[in-house]
Amino acid sequence: MSHVVISGGGTGVGAAIAQSFARSGANVTILGRTKTNLQQQGLPYEVCDVTDAAQVQAAFKSARAARGPVAAVIANAGAATSIPFRKMTADDLRAMTEVNLVGVFNVWQAGLADMQTAGSGRLIAIASIAGLKGGAYISGYCAAKHGVVGLTRALAVELAQTGITVNAVCPGYVDTPMLDRSIANIVEKTGMSEEEAAATLFKSNPQRRFIETEEVAGTVMWLCSDSAKSVNGHALSMSGGEV
Ligand code: NAP
Repeated sequence: MSHVVISGGGTGVGAAIAQSFARSGANVTILGRTKTNLQQQGLPYEVCDVTDAAQVQAAFKSARAARGPVAAVIANAGAATSIPFRKMTADDLRAMTEVNLVGVFNVWQAGLADMQTAGSGRLIAIASIAGLKGGAYISGYCAAKHGVVGLTRALAVELAQTGITVNAVCPGYVDTPMLDRSIANIVEKTGMSEEEAAATLFKSNPQRRFIETEEVAGTVMWLCSDSAKSVNGHALSMSGGEV
């Protein structure tokens, strides 16, 4: 892969993916809102909010000028809010769909023209098992991630004859800052210890553990390899058998 753009590359899953591509010799551009997190990765970056199409277009223009046409876009940026449905507002739902679904749309669309010119490319989203099954108190997040899976399946068919593949990776709980926030939220709401809160989350995984960011990075690397060129339109569960 010559030039790979990863949204949310300053932390967690996105940082692991970016470092894997960098180690493999690819040119990497990471995107995110927090400059200090992006800088800590020691990789080329563009500050942008994935919910803002104009900012995303500007970031891709600058990245393309510096490192060439984009061969793969990893739409990883996302956020999870936990709230009971009866307390949720339409604005809460919009916030979840803006970052988790429209954010994927914006970065994929910004990278597409380069891939169509090249006659090859990879569009990948980091969705979630919340894109494949329901979960209590995360209906907005689940709706948005199911939307990402729908977008993936439809676009895979639409682009099937262009040399571009489109896939979603759907992990269970991954050990990242997002998970730390979920554990802290359970501790605050229930008075459980951190260990007890963590156990309530990883018991949903039949392997009884959290997934490591490196596992997700390895799967994305494989999806970008030539040997995965027939893998198209998948929502690949990485959940230890939960889904
Ligand atoms: P994380 O460390 O919180 O990473 C999320 C990244 O997205 C951050 O770097 C954040 O950077 C960026 N981001 C958020 N909103 C953004 C926006 N509007 N514009 C640009 N960047 C934005 O959490 P993570 O676990 O690595 O999450 C990565 C992806 O994996 C997410 O899509 C998440 O839904 C998915 N996932 C996570 C888990 C899990 O258990 N951790 C499980 C399944 C799926 P800034 O805040 O600086 O912008």
